[in-house]
Amino acid sequence: MKTILVIGNGMVGYKFCEKFIAQERKSEFNVIVFGEEPRVAYDRVHLSEYFENEDEEKLMLAPRSWYEENNITIYTNERVTDIHKVNKTITTLSEKTFSYDYLVLATGSTPFVPPIKGVDKKGVFVYRTIEDLEETMAFAKKIKGGKAAVLGGGLLGLEAAKAVKDMGLEPHVVEFAPRLMPRQLDDDGSAALESKMKELGITVHLNKATQQILGNGSIEGMEFLENEKLDVEMLIISAGIRPRDELAKTCNLEMGIRGGIVVDNTMRTSDPSIFAIGEVALYNQMIYGLVAPGYEMAQVAVDQILGNETKMSASIDMSTKLKLIGVDVASFGNPFATEEEAHAIVFENKLEGLYKRINVSKDGKTLLGGILVGDAGDYNMLLQLYQNKMALPENPEDLILGARGGEGTAMGNVMDLPDEAVVCSCESVTKGAICCSVIDDGNESVKSVAKVTKATTGCGGCKPMVADLVTESLKSLGKTIKVRICEHFDYSRQELYDIVKLREIKDYDELLDTVGNGNGCEVCKPATAAIFASVYNETANKQETIQDSNDRYLANIQRNGTYSVVPRVAGGEITPKQLMAMGRIAQKYDLYTKITGGQRIDMFGAKLHELPLIWEELIAEGFETGQAYGKSLRTVKSCVGSTWCRYGMDESVSFAIEIENRYKGIRSPHKMKGGVSGCIRECAEARCKDFGFIAVEGGWNVYVCGNGGANPKHAELFAEKVDKETAVKYVDRFLMYYIKTAPPLIRTAAWLEKLEGGITYLKNVVINDSLGIAEELDKEMQNYADTYKCEWKEAVETPEIRSRYTHFINSDETDSNIEYVDLRGQKMPKAWA
Ligand SMILES: Cc1cc2nc3c(=O)[nH]c(=O)nc-3n(C[C@H](O)[C@H](O)[C@H](O)COP(=O)(O)OP(=O)(O)OC[C@H]3O[C@@H](n4cnc5c(N)ncnc54)[C@H](O)[C@@H]3O)c2cc1C
Ligand code: SF4
Ligand code: SF4
Repeated sequence: MKTILVIGNGMVGYKFCEKFIAQERKSEFNVIVFGEEPRVAYDRVHLSEYFENEDEEKLMLAPRSWYEENNITIYTNERVTDIHKVNKTITTLSEKTFSYDYLVLATGSTPFVPPIKGVDKKGVFVYRTIEDLEETMAFAKKIKGGKAAVLGGGLLGLEAAKAVKDMGLEPHVVEFAPRLMPRQLDDDGSAALESKMKELGITVHLNKATQQILGNGSIEGMEFLENEKLDVEMLIISAGIRPRDELAKTCNLEMGIRGGIVVDNTMRTSDPSIFAIGEVALYNQMIYGLVAPGYEMAQVAVDQILGNETKMSASIDMSTKLKLIGVDVASFGNPFATEEEAHAIVFENKLEGLYKRINVSKDGKTLLGGILVGDAGDYNMLLQLYQNKMALPENPEDLILGARGGEGTAMGNVMDLPDEAVVCSCESVTKGAICCSVIDDGNESVKSVAKVTKATTGCGGCKPMVADLVTESLKSLGKTIKVRICEHFDYSRQELYDIVKLREIKDYDELLDTVGNGNGCEVCKPATAAIFASVYNETANKQETIQDSNDRYLANIQRNGTYSVVPRVAGGEITPKQLMAMGRIAQKYDLYTKITGGQRIDMFGAKLHELPLIWEELIAEGFETGQAYGKSLRTVKSCVGSTWCRYGMDESVSFAIEIENRYKGIRSPHKMKGGVSGCIRECAEARCKDFGFIAVEGGWNVYVCGNGGANPKHAELFAEKVDKETAVKYVDRFLMYYIKTAPPLIRTAAWLEKLEGGITYLKNVVINDSLGIAEELDKEMQNYADTYKCEWKEAVETPEIRSRYTHFINSDETDSNIEYVDLRGQKMPKAWA
């Protein structure tokens, strides 16, 4: 029996083992693995999730028992120190010696720490292992609320900056180059990303050459060229990687000038019995810091050891998409193709922070590469067009502008891809394999397709496309497609709502443990937050980590990183005393004020730490939150009605106030608005609201499912000439039914469009109680109305919640990046350059 020793039990070393045990001839070999870390291989790509859950089990690629079950001997906490090529043995730090027939080096890399003066000070960290994260978190707790910098504005640096923010620190990204993600983005793409970072509260410092780390023992700041300084109490270095090639030196393997073990396209080093794979291997003069090439190398090494002729691809795709940060950024192919090589088509919308560039071949037939910032929804499809050299539409600009003058997209359907198209590049899974596993093998969910094909289990970037392929394949079989909230829950929002209620599940982690999988995402977290709020009438102050960012701070973050303050002005009625109070407070905090289209007063420009102070004063004057940030009731607009108007048929103002107070604070799938008009002249525009009442001869007409905004929709007549009590009862039931059954982020109009049976069905449920649930709906709505709490009052009065706003309270410094200009006697943020 021959022996294979694998040195390094990281992602690629593990993948080698996994691919090896899938071979028929595996029993001819004895596999022994050495890992220097204290635990078996884990998913480094999703390392940042450890910040949230601190659960190493969730990151494990396979449990320790897996090695045993597959006859692999594993030594963890065991560093290999020497290789003796001549007698084909290795020695470990604990002085054990092992012989090999084949040796596989999968020792990965370490973070590159530039030789900056003072870089060894306390508070300076790197970002590579679970231990690194544990040390960083422990330190962050000590400097709670302090400032932290990340050195390096590449993919990992930005991910680290987001982690810093989530740890409650003030994040700064320091980049030597004149732009962010310099290897993936051009100047304009970087500028768009920078403005998105600002929105997230991450300050970016470009063109900064760090000269030294300041401080006495612990880091106190960074000094750049020309004596510029940045005070920080913590620093994470993310300035690139260096291959762990020290073992090659112990046995004279050929190495690159700047490190890395030289391999050919069979993954052999200069010694034919020794292979190098993953981030330690220098292939085509390059170290590839991604899992996909590492996995392909692992497959080549397995095949070569078994005598097969598989070779490594000549060119390696470095396309990437940023994950976790909450900002879409992607870059593929050659993002920088020059004018001689390509025709660049650029779409830019500075206001929305959107930048899209595609490089099309001079003949207009193929895609050479591109950059997406702000919206990378089409990344997977563009990547396929590029990788498969597929024919482009007649107007290639449609690829980034969307098909104009009609529905649909210029991208075509996922099913148009050739069967050989590699959809999951980490695991080399083709479109054909995915569809086959649905159509021929009966796998009906992304989860089960992932289990058999392994698609989506690497970096996860292909998940949306795999989901589309599963859906389309099921459709081709004539099957109905189950709507899932996201890949972490195999349920629709409505089903999750019922599960939470029936099983009395109280928080997100419990829900994930009971019926979910993975760690959750930006879709399921806010959606379940809304479900908990709906079922238990909780405020957004609960379960902070799953709330949308606006809900987390109970305010909308504005263009320049400041926040808005919007008190409720029910029905639009406000007393002179309240007006004066708002004026005084706005003046004191130098806020920009504006009357909104929804009859309230917006106050803009508050800094995070000022929010509780402002709200404390507003609450003392009798105001409460207007929930302008939430997916909940915004306003009930009223006309002046019979109180003052000579046409008024009924009292629209009192009714609007009553209704706004009844539904205030209720969490819903999307924002909701109402309107009440005193006669059919409709001055309150009640028919373009989610619910509206219009006074007519003999009672009130009730309208539902309208909205203004980007896709205006007139509300539909729901009931005629009913009295006030009946009108309220109908709207109670209608809203409750919508809250329970609509998918996340769907407004009432879109929900009604999809409701089988439409308005007639809805009338039957609400008015005729066709489902027998009216009593339950009535009760639930009444419960909401009876248990309302003002979120801001709770926030200012609860020290634990209030402390979320205290980042800057010990510092008089304001964000120096916020620049204002005068606007008709008030201030506004300076326009972007
Ligand atoms: C935070 C983070 C996010 C990332 N995100 C992405 C992403 O989105 N997409 C992507 O494609 N890639 C991503 N990467 C990169 C990806 O994780 C690496 O490409 C991949 O882990 C490389 O695998 P490897 O096995 O070569 O090295 P590693 O995973 O580093 O494994 C090497 C192992 O060998 C051990 N070792 C070293 N020397 C010895 C020795 N002498 N004896 C015993 N053991 C030894 C090390 O301790 C280590 O455990 C990310 C990396 C990080 C840190
Ligand atoms: S809707 Fe009718 S009652 Fe209301 S303000 Fe207009 S005219 Fe007057
Ligand atoms: S319409 Fe609304 S979302 Fe759009 S810019 Fe104006 S305020 Fe902002």
